[in-house]
Amino acid sequence: MKISRSIRPLFLALLTLALSTLAFAFRAQDSPRAEWIPPVPREKAKTPFAPKPFGGDNIFKGEAEGWLADAIVKVEAGTLKPVEDRFVADYVAQLGKRLAAYSVAPSRQYQFVVLDDDAVNAMCIGGGRVYVNVGMLKAVESEDELACIIAHEIGHDAFGHAPKTVTRQLFWMTGVRKVRTYEEVESALKNLLAAYEKNSFAAVGDNLLGFSRFNELEADRAAFYDAYKTGYNPNAMKTIFKRFEREEKAEAGKDYAMSQFMTLLFGSHPPTPQRETALSWESNFVKMPPKAERHKSAAFDVMKSRVAKL
Ligand SMILES: [Zn+2]
Repeated sequence: MKISRSIRPLFLALLTLALSTLAFAFRAQDSPRAEWIPPVPREKAKTPFAPKPFGGDNIFKGEAEGWLADAIVKVEAGTLKPVEDRFVADYVAQLGKRLAAYSVAPSRQYQFVVLDDDAVNAMCIGGGRVYVNVGMLKAVESEDELACIIAHEIGHDAFGHAPKTVTRQLFWMTGVRKVRTYEEVESALKNLLAAYEKNSFAAVGDNLLGFSRFNELEADRAAFYDAYKTGYNPNAMKTIFKRFEREEKAEAGKDYAMSQFMTLLFGSHPPTPQRETALSWESNFVKMPPKAERHKSAAFDVMKSRVAKL
């Protein structure tokens, strides 16, 4: 779940060249900043029950949270490949920044990166790094749905779920209680991965999923209020959950150590009915828009037509 963080100048030059040949067809779409019109925010809405970040065991505070995110990117080298479509990357980055502005942690620095990966997934590795797969962009059917997904990842980030999860796992799996430098974080992460490879995922999974599910519900609640305040319809979350469930079953066949590792760390979800019930509860506390109301977004439609060709 993330953004165009390291587009190299050569790549930009090539992209500009490629796009200029398409300029006639795509001139308007090449400037998403001018094109995308966000919904009217509900800035004055009272959301007294919106969850607020709190403390908890976390050895990756401050600078160390950035070390962890950098180390994950490094250990994952090669699997986090940003998409080359500038319109798609810019569109998601703008939507993410807008949602971040109405989140519980508006002052945090975020990076929203679209990954060239067809798996229906989004994730947050902490340190403001949110990644959205092309597969997710293909799966969503409205900007409201995409906003809910991104807001969910922003929620994970704001609540420190990734650093707290890794804190617990480092302690349980390797006994590490403290990290002082980037190098220590990177080697701790590699040791954790090695420890996982020696164990069966099923055996360790039981210890982690309970917390992880709690994190998911917390991120759902944060997403509900974030999407709502930004001007989207939080009902879109229920629609996407149902689609998720189908897609996850279809994805279940794939298995690789790293993807399992990442899924175990960041990707487990509570049962869909449990998530829907939680959101129905939240909807008692705000003035909800009509169930089927969705923000009309020309930029979303352009994004959809572009990802369909990727
Ligand atoms: Zn999640």
